Amino acid sequence: MAPGTDAGTATAFAQAVYVVAALLFVLSLAGLARPTTARRGVTLGIVGMALALGATVLLAAERSERPVGVTLGLALAALVLGGAVGAWRARRVAMTELPQLIAILHSSVGLAAVAVGYNSLLTGGLAGGPDDEAVHRVEVFLGVLVGAVTLTGSVVAYLKLAARMSSAPLVLPRRNALNLAAVAVALGLLPWFLAADGPAALVPLLLMTVVALALGAHLVAAIGGGDMPVVVSMLNSYSGWAAAAAGFMLGNDLLIVTGALVGASGAILSYLMCRAMNRSFVSVVLGGFGAPTGGPGAGPAAGAGEHREVQVEDVARMLRGARSVVVTPGYGMAVAQAQYPVAELVARLRARGVAVRFGVHPVAGRLPGHMNVLLAEAKVPYDIVLEMDEINDDLAGTDVVLVIGANDTVNPAAMEDPRSPIAGMPVLRVWEAGQVVIFKRSMAAGYAGVPNPLFARENAAMLFGDAKEQVEKIVQAL
Ligand code: NDP
Repeated sequence: MAPGTDAGTATAFAQAVYVVAALLFVLSLAGLARPTTARRGVTLGIVGMALALGATVLLAAERSERPVGVTLGLALAALVLGGAVGAWRARRVAMTELPQLIAILHSSVGLAAVAVGYNSLLTGGLAGGPDDEAVHRVEVFLGVLVGAVTLTGSVVAYLKLAARMSSAPLVLPRRNALNLAAVAVALGLLPWFLAADGPAALVPLLLMTVVALALGAHLVAAIGGGDMPVVVSMLNSYSGWAAAAAGFMLGNDLLIVTGALVGASGAILSYLMCRAMNRSFVSVVLGGFGAPTGGPGAGPAAGAGEHREVQVEDVARMLRGARSVVVTPGYGMAVAQAQYPVAELVARLRARGVAVRFGVHPVAGRLPGHMNVLLAEAKVPYDIVLEMDEINDDLAGTDVVLVIGANDTVNPAAMEDPRSPIAGMPVLRVWEAGQVVIFKRSMAAGYAGVPNPLFARENAAMLFGDAKEQVEKIVQAL
């Protein structure tokens, strides 16, 4: 449409709104970096998305030459449908199921990129001339490739996180060669796809889609339990690149920018998670590392040695005599929803003059930032919630450490046993404290399925039972 006409004005207006929306998304991400500014970040994101949707309706009406009312009606119908499903799922999901919900949401971005790719090919996309057609075909090919890998990778991640599939790595013979071969075959189909005319182009595209679907499933299946945090953030990154690819195919600049923002921030998060686990990104992606035993929590009991069991009264007595206490929460706190009584316990101890802080491991729980979200929900003051690196050196001078539902993240084998599947992963050195109390229901292993010799340490004691109930009893006993 020629600039200067009414419709051209709509495009220019929409593009200007897109720039504002993109800026709001950047500010939103910056806000989300800290708990104190997270609420503002979410609000900015919502405003940006509302602007983007409005501008997209204008743009779509102009491109399709349909009345704005019809386009708006179609967009609203899709929004109501998608929004209803999203709201229904979000209201029903338990906090502990959040990681798998996020994994499956990533798969829908992959599916959307694949669908947009096929649609773009079948409807001729936005191509103008023969050169544009080649560029357009490459966009479709890469978009479908990234989308298909994201789709099946996310579904396998969902199954692993939901414990519907073993978290142990799938170790096929010559698995790296298999992955490389899949990439080579997929890319090898590109010249055929570019040269094929009309509907014949569907054949190489379909073949490539099948290969990419298999590649995505195998890539994630080969990654072991302990490395799942990286997989979650890696798929987040892939879903961003898939969205950016869809943006190229649809000729939508804002989708390209938004996809790139998600892709880049997911990649940075993957790097940070790798650093937290002392693993190289390449070795995680190549897979085959992680749980030697069954599914999450299916591992054997504690390491060698006898454990000591204590009761609620003993722990209350310990806390009455303590001057400094550190709480290290883990996945079990999320399962038990123990954050509220834990916050209450901490408030009471602080009121008695006890110095209480939290030590949060970067991969505690099942989601980056999982523990921080729970503690913020229970209104724990941010200034007493410290990262592992900030608190580790202080643990030796701490009277009592309460390990609430954490296991892998406090496992001394990571530092002391080079044969351990989690060897080299930095952990919270809780055993250096005067006394350690571990809240859990049994002697079962954590997510990585690795025995934990902490439980048999002389200064360690087990308080068996549901973490929420036990902490509530301690609050009463105090
Ligand atoms: P773990 O998964 O190692 O251990 C959690 C412990 O909580 C279990 O041993 C379990 O023992 C206990 N537990 C479960 N339910 C309850 C309950 N109701 N009351 C009391 N205790 C309970 O937790 P960590 O947080 O220490 O480690 C996280 C693990 O998850 C790491 O291996 C990490 O790599 C992995 N992971 C992390 C992700 C992330 O992004 N943060 C993503 C995916 C995986 P019991 O059954 O005996 O009660």
